[in-house]
Amino acid sequence: MFACLHVTRRCNMGCPYCYAGIGGQKDMTLDVAIRIVDLLKSINVLAVLLLGGEPTLWKPLMKFNAYCEKVGMMTSITTNASMFGDADWFESYKKAPCTMVGVSLKAPDEIYFRNKISALVNFSQIKTGLCNIYKLSRDAVSNLLYGAGMNRDEVCFTAKFAYDLGARDLRLSFPTPVVNSDGNISAVDKTPIKELVNDVGYIYDRLYPLFGLRPNMLKIGHRLPRLCSWPKEFIRTLVTRGHFDNACLTCKRESIAFDISGNVLPCPQMTSCVIAKIDNDFNDGPSLLRHLNSGYVKDVYRRLARYPYKRCETCEWNSYCNGGCPICWTKSGQSVNCDGSPLENFLCSLDKCGSTNIQEPQPFGLIAFR
Ligand code: SF4
Ligand code: SF4
Repeated sequence: MFACLHVTRRCNMGCPYCYAGIGGQKDMTLDVAIRIVDLLKSINVLAVLLLGGEPTLWKPLMKFNAYCEKVGMMTSITTNASMFGDADWFESYKKAPCTMVGVSLKAPDEIYFRNKISALVNFSQIKTGLCNIYKLSRDAVSNLLYGAGMNRDEVCFTAKFAYDLGARDLRLSFPTPVVNSDGNISAVDKTPIKELVNDVGYIYDRLYPLFGLRPNMLKIGHRLPRLCSWPKEFIRTLVTRGHFDNACLTCKRESIAFDISGNVLPCPQMTSCVIAKIDNDFNDGPSLLRHLNSGYVKDVYRRLARYPYKRCETCEWNSYCNGGCPICWTKSGQSVNCDGSPLENFLCSLDKCGSTNIQEPQPFGLIAFR
């Protein structure tokens, strides 16, 4: 059980496929961040993942880390590595580091980076940052997106580039659309599913010798709309080797996300789907717990955690796939016009695109429905 905190919308890169610009306010205040940590501690949530934008640009980061260290809250950060290549910033970070680091790999080389990702940051600074991360944190996780503009060979070259710099733990994932401020779903990847399935097999065969031989060092992400589109043999190989990443944590109720203002979202990608307003629905741990246990939230999760197909109920891959990411399969379904709040519009789209069968929500980690 963990929580995600959107601490800033700002970023120094501006990757073409990114959703960070969505939303108004740009930074979470340190007061709100500390208040959330205290609240999470009081309900036994002991890990927070810092998200952006680029969370290394969040000014209070080191003060926040020092506070979390003092109160026993684990911190994890997802970064583009650039600030880790800034000597002054890195010196100060080393005095109050996060417990874990996840890095988003962007490009195999300078030309690709400059032409397709960003001209705002120097690629050699990113390279230095990656080296610093891998030296400081041997269990750093490297995340690589397929379907965000890179073809399959560029994905493989980027993985090899990171491996040569010291990466040992790789997650291959796929861009997820976001539910934006009107409840509609942003467009991201248009790769036909057949091509995607072929490419993922091709990439996996090349990454396996680098990252796959040691336990838990290679994972394939869960955000595909139809795991059943993949060859059965391939799925069996991934299952046997333990190379699947988790199924949807939102549907399993194993994580919650906080937006910049401290409001609660079901998932970081559902940027405007507020299920609990700070100082309105909750103001401390017990009142958050009460709200998350309310009939209203239970009904929201009942509708969120539905399956795309009736056959998912009895599918042998259900525990790995759980129907896939609802944002992805809603996007690939019919277009729906609903008229309500962002959350209600998204739920209404899910109702119309998903199977009529609604999943009964799982207990929310320690926050069980009563
Ligand atoms: S759970 Fe549903 S979407 Fe996933 S593999 Fe099974 S049938 Fe396909
Ligand atoms: S809805 Fe689930 S699968 Fe989709 S992005 Fe959120 S946590 Fe991941």
